[in-house]
Amino acid sequence: TLGYQELFTNLRTWLTEITGFADTSLQPNSGAQGEYAGLMVIRAYHMNRGEGHRDVALIPTSAHGTNPASAVMAGMKVVLVKCDEKGNIDIEDLKSKATEHKDDLSCLMVTYPSTHGVFEEAIQEICATIHQYGGQVYMDGANMNAQVGLTSPGRIGADVCHLNLHKTFCIPHGGGGPGMGPICVASHLAPFLPGNPLVKTGGELAVSSISSAPYGSASILPISYAYIAMMGGDGLTNATKMAILNANYIKERLAGHYPILYTGSKGRAAHEMIVDCRAFKEVGVEVEDIAKRLMDYGYHAPTVSFPVAGTLMIEPTESETKAELDKFCDALLSIREEIREIEEGKADRVENVLKNAPHTAKMVLTGEWTMPYSREKAVFPIAFVKEGKFWPTVRRIDSAYGDRNLVCSCIPVEEYATETELA
Ligand SMILES: *Cc1c(COP(=O)(O)O)cnc(C)c1O
Repeated sequence: TLGYQELFTNLRTWLTEITGFADTSLQPNSGAQGEYAGLMVIRAYHMNRGEGHRDVALIPTSAHGTNPASAVMAGMKVVLVKCDEKGNIDIEDLKSKATEHKDDLSCLMVTYPSTHGVFEEAIQEICATIHQYGGQVYMDGANMNAQVGLTSPGRIGADVCHLNLHKTFCIPHGGGGPGMGPICVASHLAPFLPGNPLVKTGGELAVSSISSAPYGSASILPISYAYIAMMGGDGLTNATKMAILNANYIKERLAGHYPILYTGSKGRAAHEMIVDCRAFKEVGVEVEDIAKRLMDYGYHAPTVSFPVAGTLMIEPTESETKAELDKFCDALLSIREEIREIEEGKADRVENVLKNAPHTAKMVLTGEWTMPYSREKAVFPIAFVKEGKFWPTVRRIDSAYGDRNLVCSCIPVEEYATETELA
Protein backbone atom coordinates (compact mmCIF):
# COMPACT_ATOMS: atom_id res chain seq x y z
CA THR A 1 0.00 0.00 0.00
CA LEU A 2 3.02 2.34 0.00
CA GLY A 3 2.00 4.00 -3.25
CA TYR A 4 -1.48 4.62 -1.92
CA GLN A 5 -0.03 6.03 1.31
CA GLU A 6 1.99 8.53 -0.69
CA LEU A 7 -1.08 9.46 -2.72
CA PHE A 8 -3.19 9.97 0.44
CA THR A 9 -0.52 12.18 2.00
CA ASN A 10 -0.11 14.38 -1.07
CA LEU A 11 -3.83 14.63 -1.73
CA ARG A 12 -4.53 15.55 1.89
CA THR A 13 -1.85 18.25 1.71
CA TRP A 14 -3.32 19.68 -1.49
CA LEU A 15 -6.93 19.66 -0.29
CA THR A 16 -5.85 21.24 2.98
CA GLU A 17 -4.07 24.02 1.08
CA ILE A 18 -6.99 24.54 -1.32
CA THR A 19 -9.44 24.96 1.56
CA GLY A 20 -7.11 27.16 3.62
CA PHE A 21 -7.38 24.77 6.55
CA ALA A 22 -4.99 22.68 8.68
CA ASP A 23 -5.85 19.03 8.04
CA THR A 24 -8.03 16.69 5.99
CA SER A 25 -9.76 13.34 6.51
CA LEU A 26 -10.25 11.21 3.44
CA GLN A 27 -12.82 9.02 5.14
CA PRO A 28 -16.32 10.17 4.11
CA ASN A 29 -17.69 8.60 0.92
CA SER A 30 -20.00 11.44 -0.10
CA GLY A 31 -20.82 15.05 0.58
CA ALA A 32 -23.65 14.02 2.87
CA GLN A 33 -21.35 11.68 4.80
CA GLY A 34 -18.83 14.53 5.00
CA GLU A 35 -21.52 16.71 6.57
CA TYR A 36 -22.20 14.02 9.15
CA ALA A 37 -18.46 13.56 9.80
CA GLY A 38 -17.92 17.32 10.12
CA LEU A 39 -20.81 17.68 12.55
CA MET A 40 -19.52 14.76 14.66
CA VAL A 41 -16.16 16.55 14.79
CA ILE A 42 -17.87 19.78 15.89
CA ARG A 43 -19.82 17.83 18.50
CA ALA A 44 -16.60 16.26 19.85
CA TYR A 45 -14.96 19.70 19.97
CA HIS A 46 -17.79 21.11 22.09
CA MET A 47 -17.79 18.03 24.35
CA ASN A 48 -14.06 18.32 24.87
CA ARG A 49 -14.56 21.89 26.09
CA GLY A 50 -17.24 20.80 28.51
CA GLU A 51 -19.96 22.24 26.28
CA GLY A 52 -21.52 18.99 25.09
CA HIS A 53 -24.97 20.47 25.56
CA ARG A 54 -24.52 22.62 22.44
CA ASP A 55 -26.83 20.86 19.99
CA VAL A 56 -28.56 23.48 17.84
CA ALA A 57 -27.69 23.64 14.15
CA LEU A 58 -28.76 26.81 12.33
CA ILE A 59 -29.54 26.07 8.68
CA PRO A 60 -30.75 28.58 6.07
CA THR A 61 -33.93 27.66 4.21
CA SER A 62 -31.95 27.61 0.95
CA ALA A 63 -29.86 24.63 2.14
CA HIS A 64 -29.53 21.32 0.35
CA GLY A 65 -31.77 18.67 1.92
CA THR A 66 -28.76 16.70 3.13
CA ASN A 67 -27.86 19.52 5.59
CA PRO A 68 -30.83 19.14 7.95
CA ALA A 69 -30.77 15.36 7.46
CA SER A 70 -27.11 15.16 8.53
CA ALA A 71 -27.73 17.47 11.48
CA VAL A 72 -30.51 15.22 12.74
CA MET A 73 -28.33 12.13 12.28
CA ALA A 74 -25.62 13.85 14.33
CA GLY A 75 -28.14 14.29 17.15
CA MET A 76 -28.70 18.01 16.61
CA LYS A 77 -31.82 20.14 16.63
CA VAL A 78 -32.40 22.06 13.40
CA VAL A 79 -33.38 25.72 13.57
CA LEU A 80 -34.11 27.35 10.21
CA VAL A 81 -32.81 30.77 9.23
CA LYS A 82 -34.77 32.80 6.70
CA CYS A 83 -33.53 34.11 3.38
CA ASP A 84 -34.36 37.60 2.12
CA GLU A 85 -36.03 38.35 -1.22
CA LYS A 86 -32.64 38.46 -2.90
CA GLY A 87 -31.98 34.88 -1.80
CA ASN A 88 -29.33 35.81 0.77
CA ILE A 89 -29.31 34.72 4.39
CA ASP A 90 -31.45 37.18 6.36
CA ILE A 91 -28.78 38.61 8.68
CA GLU A 92 -31.29 39.99 11.18
CA ASP A 93 -32.97 36.60 11.47
CA LEU A 94 -29.56 34.90 11.79
CA LYS A 95 -28.56 37.24 14.60
CA SER A 96 -31.82 36.80 16.43
CA LYS A 97 -31.74 32.99 16.17
CA ALA A 98 -28.07 32.95 17.24
CA THR A 99 -28.88 35.15 20.26
CA GLU A 100 -31.90 33.07 21.15
CA HIS A 101 -29.77 29.89 21.10
CA LYS A 102 -26.51 31.36 22.40
CA ASP A 103 -26.36 28.81 25.23
CA ASP A 104 -26.97 25.75 23.08
CA LEU A 105 -25.68 26.84 19.66
CA SER A 106 -23.56 24.12 18.08
CA CYS A 107 -23.07 25.35 14.55
CA LEU A 108 -24.27 26.96 11.35
CA MET A 109 -24.33 24.98 8.12
CA VAL A 110 -23.82 27.34 5.23
CA THR A 111 -23.24 26.80 1.51
CA TYR A 112 -20.88 29.25 -0.21
CA PRO A 113 -21.45 30.41 -2.85
CA SER A 114 -25.07 29.78 -1.93
CA THR A 115 -27.33 27.23 -3.58
CA HIS A 116 -28.95 30.32 -5.13
CA GLY A 117 -25.75 30.76 -7.16
CA VAL A 118 -24.57 33.95 -5.47
CA PHE A 119 -21.42 34.85 -3.52
CA GLU A 120 -23.13 35.96 -0.34
CA GLU A 121 -21.44 39.27 0.44
CA ALA A 122 -22.03 39.05 4.18
CA ILE A 123 -20.35 35.66 4.51
CA GLN A 124 -17.54 36.86 6.81
CA GLU A 125 -20.01 38.71 9.02
CA ILE A 126 -22.17 35.56 9.10
CA CYS A 127 -19.24 33.39 10.25
CA ALA A 128 -18.16 35.97 12.83
CA THR A 129 -21.69 36.13 14.26
CA ILE A 130 -21.76 32.37 14.82
CA HIS A 131 -18.35 32.43 16.52
CA GLN A 132 -19.47 35.28 18.72
CA TYR A 133 -22.19 33.02 20.13
CA GLY A 134 -19.88 30.05 20.67
CA GLY A 135 -20.85 28.13 17.55
CA GLN A 136 -18.78 26.58 14.78
CA VAL A 137 -19.26 27.11 11.03
CA TYR A 138 -19.74 24.11 8.77
CA MET A 139 -19.31 25.21 5.18
CA ASP A 140 -21.00 22.93 2.68
CA GLY A 141 -18.32 22.73 -0.02
CA ALA A 142 -20.48 21.43 -2.86
CA ASN A 143 -19.99 24.72 -4.72
CA MET A 144 -16.22 24.71 -4.21
CA ASN A 145 -15.59 24.91 -7.96
CA ALA A 146 -16.50 28.59 -7.65
CA GLN A 147 -13.77 29.08 -5.01
CA VAL A 148 -10.68 26.97 -5.78
CA GLY A 149 -7.68 29.29 -6.15
CA LEU A 150 -9.73 32.47 -5.68
CA THR A 151 -10.90 32.21 -2.09
CA SER A 152 -11.35 29.45 0.48
CA PRO A 153 -13.48 28.28 3.39
CA GLY A 154 -10.57 29.08 5.71
CA ARG A 155 -10.39 32.59 4.36
CA ILE A 156 -14.07 33.36 4.84
CA GLY A 157 -13.85 32.18 8.45
CA ALA A 158 -15.43 28.73 8.40
CA ASP A 159 -14.13 25.92 10.65
CA VAL A 160 -14.83 22.78 8.64
CA CYS A 161 -16.07 21.90 5.16
CA HIS A 162 -16.54 18.87 2.97
CA LEU A 163 -15.38 18.66 -0.62
CA ASN A 164 -17.34 16.67 -3.15
CA LEU A 165 -14.44 15.20 -5.11
CA HIS A 166 -17.11 13.87 -7.49
CA LYS A 167 -18.26 17.42 -8.20
CA THR A 168 -15.26 19.73 -8.00
CA PHE A 169 -12.37 17.33 -8.48
CA CYS A 170 -13.21 15.39 -11.57
CA ILE A 171 -14.55 12.05 -10.31
CA PRO A 172 -17.42 11.09 -12.63
CA HIS A 173 -20.63 11.88 -10.83
CA GLY A 174 -23.56 11.11 -13.07
CA GLY A 175 -25.55 7.95 -12.58
CA GLY A 176 -24.84 7.72 -8.88
CA GLY A 177 -21.31 6.37 -9.13
CA PRO A 178 -19.08 6.16 -6.07
CA GLY A 179 -18.22 9.48 -4.49
CA MET A 180 -15.75 10.96 -2.05
CA GLY A 181 -16.53 13.68 0.47
CA PRO A 182 -13.33 14.38 2.44
CA ILE A 183 -13.59 16.93 5.23
CA CYS A 184 -11.04 19.66 5.80
CA VAL A 185 -10.76 21.39 9.17
CA ALA A 186 -9.13 24.33 10.93
CA SER A 187 -6.38 23.43 13.44
CA HIS A 188 -8.63 23.45 16.53
CA LEU A 189 -10.77 20.69 15.00
CA ALA A 190 -7.91 18.56 13.63
CA PRO A 191 -7.52 16.41 16.81
CA PHE A 192 -11.09 15.14 16.32
CA LEU A 193 -10.83 13.91 12.71
CA PRO A 194 -12.29 10.39 12.43
CA GLY A 195 -10.20 7.37 13.36
CA ASN A 196 -10.32 3.71 12.45
CA PRO A 197 -10.02 0.68 14.77
CA LEU A 198 -7.35 -1.03 12.64
CA VAL A 199 -5.47 1.60 10.68
CA LYS A 200 -4.13 4.74 12.37
CA THR A 201 -6.02 7.67 10.87
CA GLY A 202 -7.37 10.94 12.27
CA GLY A 203 -6.35 12.95 15.32
CA GLU A 204 -5.44 12.11 18.94
CA LEU A 205 -9.02 12.65 20.08
CA ALA A 206 -10.52 11.06 16.99
CA VAL A 207 -14.27 10.52 16.69
CA SER A 208 -15.08 6.92 15.80
CA SER A 209 -14.90 5.88 12.17
CA ILE A 210 -17.38 7.37 9.73
CA SER A 211 -16.92 4.75 7.05
CA SER A 212 -15.55 1.26 7.57
CA ALA A 213 -12.68 1.87 5.14
CA PRO A 214 -9.96 4.12 6.64
CA TYR A 215 -9.64 6.18 3.44
CA GLY A 216 -13.16 5.95 2.07
CA SER A 217 -13.46 4.94 -1.57
CA ALA A 218 -9.68 4.96 -1.93
CA SER A 219 -9.67 3.43 -5.40
CA ILE A 220 -11.19 6.56 -6.97
CA LEU A 221 -8.84 9.01 -5.25
CA PRO A 222 -6.24 8.70 -8.05
CA ILE A 223 -8.72 10.54 -10.30
CA SER A 224 -8.71 13.67 -8.13
CA TYR A 225 -5.00 13.23 -7.46
CA ALA A 226 -4.18 13.16 -11.17
CA TYR A 227 -6.54 16.04 -11.90
CA ILE A 228 -4.97 18.32 -9.28
CA ALA A 229 -1.42 17.24 -10.20
CA MET A 230 -1.98 17.90 -13.90
CA MET A 231 -3.88 21.16 -13.46
CA GLY A 232 -1.50 22.67 -10.93
CA GLY A 233 -2.37 25.78 -8.94
CA ASP A 234 -2.71 28.05 -11.97
CA GLY A 235 -4.78 25.51 -13.87
CA LEU A 236 -7.20 25.01 -10.98
CA THR A 237 -7.62 28.75 -10.53
CA ASN A 238 -8.23 29.14 -14.23
CA ALA A 239 -10.88 26.40 -14.13
CA THR A 240 -12.68 28.30 -11.38
CA LYS A 241 -12.59 31.50 -13.42
CA MET A 242 -13.89 29.66 -16.49
CA ALA A 243 -16.72 28.07 -14.50
CA ILE A 244 -17.83 31.50 -13.27
CA LEU A 245 -17.35 33.09 -16.69
CA ASN A 246 -19.35 30.34 -18.42
CA ALA A 247 -22.24 30.70 -16.01
CA ASN A 248 -22.32 34.45 -16.49
CA TYR A 249 -22.07 34.05 -20.26
CA ILE A 250 -25.19 31.88 -20.28
CA LYS A 251 -26.86 34.33 -17.95
CA GLU A 252 -26.21 37.23 -20.32
CA ARG A 253 -27.40 35.27 -23.36
CA LEU A 254 -30.66 34.30 -21.64
CA ALA A 255 -31.24 37.75 -20.13
CA GLY A 256 -34.37 39.39 -21.45
CA HIS A 257 -35.78 36.01 -22.50
CA TYR A 258 -35.97 34.26 -19.17
CA PRO A 259 -35.91 35.89 -15.73
CA ILE A 260 -32.80 34.98 -13.69
CA LEU A 261 -33.91 34.61 -10.10
CA TYR A 262 -31.00 35.80 -7.98
CA THR A 263 -27.82 37.73 -8.68
CA GLY A 264 -25.24 39.51 -6.58
CA SER A 265 -25.25 43.27 -6.04
CA LYS A 266 -23.18 43.72 -9.21
CA GLY A 267 -25.65 41.75 -11.27
CA ARG A 268 -23.44 38.67 -11.53
CA ALA A 269 -24.02 35.02 -10.79
CA ALA A 270 -21.42 32.73 -9.22
CA HIS A 271 -20.85 29.44 -11.06
CA GLU A 272 -24.54 28.62 -11.48
CA MET A 273 -27.82 30.43 -11.86
CA ILE A 274 -31.51 29.85 -11.44
CA VAL A 275 -33.76 30.38 -14.46
CA ASP A 276 -37.29 31.16 -13.36
CA CYS A 277 -39.92 29.30 -15.39
CA ARG A 278 -42.88 29.83 -13.08
CA ALA A 279 -44.51 32.60 -15.12
CA PHE A 280 -45.13 30.15 -17.99
CA LYS A 281 -47.62 28.26 -15.83
CA GLU A 282 -50.09 30.88 -16.97
CA VAL A 283 -50.18 29.21 -20.39
CA GLY A 284 -49.97 25.74 -18.90
CA VAL A 285 -46.22 25.26 -19.43
CA GLU A 286 -44.42 23.68 -16.48
CA VAL A 287 -40.67 23.59 -15.90
CA GLU A 288 -40.90 19.86 -16.54
CA ASP A 289 -42.18 20.51 -20.08
CA ILE A 290 -39.09 22.62 -20.78
CA ALA A 291 -36.87 19.90 -19.32
CA LYS A 292 -38.49 17.26 -21.56
CA ARG A 293 -38.38 19.49 -24.62
CA LEU A 294 -34.64 19.98 -24.11
CA MET A 295 -34.29 16.26 -24.86
CA ASP A 296 -35.63 16.88 -28.38
CA TYR A 297 -32.76 19.35 -28.78
CA GLY A 298 -30.27 16.76 -27.56
CA TYR A 299 -29.81 17.99 -23.99
CA HIS A 300 -30.33 16.39 -20.65
CA ALA A 301 -32.06 19.01 -18.55
CA PRO A 302 -30.11 20.81 -15.84
CA THR A 303 -31.30 20.60 -12.22
CA VAL A 304 -35.09 20.92 -12.08
CA SER A 305 -36.91 22.49 -9.11
CA PHE A 306 -33.94 22.74 -6.75
CA PRO A 307 -33.46 24.85 -4.71
CA VAL A 308 -36.60 26.64 -5.91
CA ALA A 309 -39.61 24.71 -7.26
CA GLY A 310 -40.59 25.58 -10.83
CA THR A 311 -37.10 26.69 -11.87
CA LEU A 312 -34.07 25.33 -13.70
CA MET A 313 -30.63 25.65 -12.15
CA ILE A 314 -27.87 25.78 -14.73
CA GLU A 315 -24.27 25.01 -13.81
CA PRO A 316 -22.19 24.80 -16.99
CA THR A 317 -18.82 24.22 -15.22
CA GLU A 318 -15.50 25.00 -16.88
CA SER A 319 -15.67 21.97 -19.16
CA GLU A 320 -17.83 23.15 -22.05
CA THR A 321 -16.56 25.03 -25.09
CA LYS A 322 -18.12 28.32 -26.11
CA ALA A 323 -19.64 26.58 -29.14
CA GLU A 324 -21.38 24.09 -26.87
CA LEU A 325 -22.60 26.82 -24.53
CA ASP A 326 -23.99 28.67 -27.55
CA LYS A 327 -25.84 25.59 -28.80
CA PHE A 328 -27.36 25.09 -25.37
CA CYS A 329 -28.43 28.76 -25.19
CA ASP A 330 -29.83 28.57 -28.75
CA ALA A 331 -31.92 25.59 -27.65
CA LEU A 332 -33.31 27.44 -24.62
CA LEU A 333 -34.01 30.57 -26.67
CA SER A 334 -35.76 28.49 -29.31
CA ILE A 335 -37.87 26.84 -26.59
CA ARG A 336 -38.74 30.31 -25.35
CA GLU A 337 -40.13 31.08 -28.83
CA GLU A 338 -42.13 27.85 -28.71
CA ILE A 339 -43.64 29.02 -25.43
CA ARG A 340 -44.39 32.37 -27.04
CA GLU A 341 -46.38 30.59 -29.78
CA ILE A 342 -48.63 29.21 -27.04
CA GLU A 343 -48.82 32.61 -25.33
CA GLU A 344 -49.86 34.23 -28.61
CA GLY A 345 -52.42 31.55 -29.43
CA LYS A 346 -50.45 30.31 -32.44
CA ALA A 347 -49.97 26.91 -30.83
CA ASP A 348 -52.53 24.80 -29.02
CA ARG A 349 -52.30 24.77 -25.20
CA VAL A 350 -52.44 20.98 -25.03
CA GLU A 351 -51.18 19.60 -28.35
CA ASN A 352 -47.90 21.45 -28.59
CA VAL A 353 -44.21 20.61 -28.89
CA LEU A 354 -43.59 21.19 -25.20
CA LYS A 355 -46.44 19.15 -23.77
CA ASN A 356 -45.70 16.25 -26.11
CA ALA A 357 -41.95 16.27 -25.58
CA PRO A 358 -39.84 14.26 -25.83
CA HIS A 359 -40.65 12.99 -29.32
CA THR A 360 -39.30 9.49 -30.01
CA ALA A 361 -38.42 8.02 -33.40
CA LYS A 362 -41.30 5.58 -33.02
CA MET A 363 -43.73 8.40 -32.49
CA VAL A 364 -42.81 10.32 -35.63
CA LEU A 365 -41.96 7.41 -37.94
CA THR A 366 -44.89 5.06 -37.48
CA GLY A 367 -48.58 5.51 -38.19
CA GLU A 368 -50.30 8.66 -39.13
CA TRP A 369 -49.12 12.04 -37.85
CA THR A 370 -52.03 13.87 -36.27
CA MET A 371 -50.35 16.65 -34.32
CA PRO A 372 -51.08 20.25 -35.29
CA TYR A 373 -47.34 20.85 -35.83
CA SER A 374 -44.96 19.16 -38.27
CA ARG A 375 -42.82 16.12 -37.59
CA GLU A 376 -39.81 18.19 -38.52
CA LYS A 377 -40.63 20.78 -35.87
CA ALA A 378 -41.05 17.97 -33.37
CA VAL A 379 -37.65 16.34 -33.85
CA PHE A 380 -35.47 18.85 -35.72
CA PRO A 381 -36.52 22.11 -34.07
CA ILE A 382 -33.22 23.85 -34.84
CA ALA A 383 -30.55 23.31 -37.51
CA PHE A 384 -27.80 21.83 -35.34
CA VAL A 385 -30.04 18.99 -34.18
CA LYS A 386 -30.04 17.56 -37.72
CA GLU A 387 -26.28 17.20 -37.62
CA GLY A 388 -26.25 14.87 -34.67
CA LYS A 389 -29.67 13.86 -33.45
CA PHE A 390 -29.93 12.22 -30.07
CA TRP A 391 -33.13 10.19 -30.08
CA PRO A 392 -34.93 9.88 -26.77
CA THR A 393 -36.10 6.27 -26.50
CA VAL A 394 -39.16 6.70 -24.33
CA ARG A 395 -41.85 9.31 -23.98
CA ARG A 396 -43.05 10.52 -20.61
CA ILE A 397 -44.53 7.87 -18.40
CA ASP A 398 -45.66 9.35 -15.13
CA SER A 399 -42.81 11.63 -13.99
CA ALA A 400 -42.33 11.55 -10.24
CA TYR A 401 -45.38 9.34 -9.60
CA GLY A 402 -43.28 6.22 -9.18
CA ASP A 403 -40.95 7.96 -6.72
CA ARG A 404 -43.85 8.97 -4.56
CA ASN A 405 -45.91 5.78 -4.79
CA LEU A 406 -43.61 2.87 -4.17
CA VAL A 407 -44.84 -0.49 -5.37
CA CYS A 408 -43.29 -3.70 -4.13
CA SER A 409 -43.12 -6.11 -7.02
CA CYS A 410 -41.75 -9.06 -5.05
CA ILE A 411 -44.10 -11.95 -4.57
CA PRO A 412 -45.05 -12.65 -0.92
CA VAL A 413 -42.82 -15.07 1.02
CA GLU A 414 -45.78 -17.46 1.37
CA GLU A 415 -45.73 -17.98 -2.37
CA TYR A 416 -42.27 -19.52 -2.11
CA ALA A 417 -43.43 -21.80 0.68
CA THR A 418 -46.30 -23.08 -1.41
CA GLU A 419 -44.04 -23.66 -4.41
CA THR A 420 -41.55 -25.64 -2.31
CA GLU A 421 -44.31 -27.65 -0.74
CA LEU A 422 -45.74 -28.40 -4.17
CA ALA A 423 -42.30 -29.54 -5.36
C1 LIG B 1 -24.48 17.56 -3.84
C2 LIG B 1 -24.67 18.39 -2.64
C3 LIG B 1 -24.62 17.83 -1.36
C4 LIG B 1 -24.50 16.34 -1.08
O1 LIG B 1 -23.41 15.73 -1.65
P1 LIG B 1 -23.43 14.18 -2.02
O2 LIG B 1 -22.04 13.87 -2.39
O3 LIG B 1 -24.40 14.03 -3.14
O4 LIG B 1 -23.88 13.43 -0.79
C5 LIG B 1 -24.73 18.67 -0.27
N1 LIG B 1 -24.93 20.00 -0.44
C6 LIG B 1 -25.01 20.56 -1.65
C7 LIG B 1 -25.21 22.04 -1.77
C8 LIG B 1 -24.89 19.77 -2.80
O5 LIG B 1 -24.98 20.34 -4.01
